Amino acid sequence: MKRSYPALDMFRLIAAALVVAIHTSPLSGLTEAGDFWLTRVLARIAVPFFLMVSGYFLARGNWNGTNRFLQKTLFLYAASVILYLPVNFYNGNISGLDWVRRLLLDGTLYHLWYFPAAMLGVLIARTLARAGLPAALSVAGVLYLIGLGGDSWYGICTRIPVINIFYNGIFSVCTYTRNGLFYAPIFLLLGAAGFRLRRGLAAAGGVLALLAMSAEALFLRAQNVQRHDSMYLFLPLLMVCLFSLLLDANAGERKSFRSFSLLIYILHPMVILLVRGGAKAVGLQTLLIENSLVHYLAVLAGSCGLAYVLCFLRPARPGAKARAWRELDLSALRHNVHVLQSSLPAGCALMGVVKADAYGHGAVTVARTLWRSGVRAFAVACLTEGIALRKAGIRGEILILGYTPPEEAALLLRWRLSQMVADAAHGQSLADTGFPLRIHLGLDTGMHRLGLPADDYAAISALYQRKNLKVVGIFSHLCVADSLAESDIAYTEAQLTRFYETVAWLRAQGFPTGRVHIQASYGVLNLPEQQSCDYARVGIALYGVRSSDAPVRRPLDLQPVLSLRARVTSVRTLAAGECAGYDRAFQAGRATRIAAVSIGYADGLPRSLPQMGGYVLLRGKKCPLIGRLCMDQALIDVTGAPEAETGDIVTLIGCDGPEMLRAEALAAQCGTITNELLSRLGGRLPVVAR
Ligand SMILES: *Cc1c(COP(=O)(O)O)cnc(C)c1O
Repeated sequence: MKRSYPALDMFRLIAAALVVAIHTSPLSGLTEAGDFWLTRVLARIAVPFFLMVSGYFLARGNWNGTNRFLQKTLFLYAASVILYLPVNFYNGNISGLDWVRRLLLDGTLYHLWYFPAAMLGVLIARTLARAGLPAALSVAGVLYLIGLGGDSWYGICTRIPVINIFYNGIFSVCTYTRNGLFYAPIFLLLGAAGFRLRRGLAAAGGVLALLAMSAEALFLRAQNVQRHDSMYLFLPLLMVCLFSLLLDANAGERKSFRSFSLLIYILHPMVILLVRGGAKAVGLQTLLIENSLVHYLAVLAGSCGLAYVLCFLRPARPGAKARAWRELDLSALRHNVHVLQSSLPAGCALMGVVKADAYGHGAVTVARTLWRSGVRAFAVACLTEGIALRKAGIRGEILILGYTPPEEAALLLRWRLSQMVADAAHGQSLADTGFPLRIHLGLDTGMHRLGLPADDYAAISALYQRKNLKVVGIFSHLCVADSLAESDIAYTEAQLTRFYETVAWLRAQGFPTGRVHIQASYGVLNLPEQQSCDYARVGIALYGVRSSDAPVRRPLDLQPVLSLRARVTSVRTLAAGECAGYDRAFQAGRATRIAAVSIGYADGLPRSLPQMGGYVLLRGKKCPLIGRLCMDQALIDVTGAPEAETGDIVTLIGCDGPEMLRAEALAAQCGTITNELLSRLGGRLPVVAR
């Protein structure tokens, strides 16, 4: 097995130790120049590294995690501000507007500038990233250059009077240019870019960049032009090389290092005070304070100790990948949006159908990704699903495809949801509530499930007379568009004809139709383009799977979005004749190596799966499911993968090495369609986006 080496998380510890060095000057008692190089040059990689890691992970999640990042950073900042209030009091610099200015821009104590800078930086970086990375990096690069002129290159740049006035203006607002505007965006975006250079190139480039940056720093110091020493011309280049090397070596993660390094960052100034106070109290100033190296080590050890205790006290939460999870490939989702949208005629937009927790994919994650890909209309099954999307910040059109009782009409208004009209009585009862409601007229063209009969013009015009109902859309649903049988095609044609006849009649009457829509996934995959449509309500195809393996007329290059994974929890060997599982349903014909897996029918898998020939992927090999599927667990035969061990990842849908388990095949095995299989995947399975 490949040895995991969580380089990114490990480097956080090094970066934290470097930050402590910046604030304790470990070499100052030995060599002034050496200390300058260590704390004002080398250690300046620490904060950019933290920013790059944040940018890297935020971008990998398509910046969806931005709000959570901001909330968490705000919380940490607030806690740190409170923690250091006594120090502010002691220093006497807490009064008045200046403290508020520092709270918002510079941080209330010297190291706390990082938090407001990270928050502002992420907002700027995300906004810039929408324009594409090259453009974003260019703008952030210009901002960095401006910041540089107010930092280590200050004395040189301000020799020009206009520039001097410019920086005077900047510094009347903030103390340094090393902040969320000039400094953070470039590193967040370089992290987001995640450049991967060849290892040799990155190593050589890194060494050269460090040499160049050292020369730059020593030159500027000799010129005595530095106003501050956080920013250098060669720093971004050095960071790109370093980060590339780390990404290259990175495998796995060590989450505990994250909180540990963060706590060292937050707490070390407090420890500096404690060490100094303690040294004075016990008369050890010569050793603990005056010896700069010992002082540094004491502060570092104290910070580590304190951080360790706090980490230990923090209640731990189970990891998302501890048991079983739904893994989303968001780039596949974006790809599918693009492919589907391009397959539609101009003027026809994609309505993302995200009912049933987005067919088991996680409605909020999916809807946010769709929104970022330009989708502005969504369909859900019921009121609760619509409200959940609004609460998650989804704007645009949200259509409820199912019946909503008139008693709930106020909620439709409150959350600005559009309601389909199930029949004439439903329409009347919604109108009777008096609420101004946005509705899509459902027309029954042959499915006979919901909607007003398409030829019941009297009922339709009656609804148009009700002034409080605003018809913003008209639609119908096709019930055999997935079939290429001749009679089914004829049925679909008849449905389409009825639909367009009614639409034409409405237009002739001068009734506004709002948005017209009839195609669902198979309407897109099997029908010619519908010219007069404003939406295609696409569900299953969005997720990159078809309902079944039945052929379609217009196969599109769609990629599956979801993988379903679980873990091996125990491995054992059965002797020939021994049995396993409920009902003794499996009996070993020969010595058999079996494993328990942490997923079961309560997670949405069909209980019949093992009996239907179901299998899983483990270490790139097919392993049959055996015995009865349990509520929370499954048994598999791992005789063909003898290295299997506890903790191994088991794939139930998706790729593992050369093998791929398709949802269509699994659904067919169990006598159902992927729509059912996927939408049943339970809420107990965390959604992990990658
Ligand atoms: C579920 C549903 C859709 C989406 O169907 P797919 O085949 O998954 O694309 C569209 N319209 C209505 C009315 C639906 O109920």
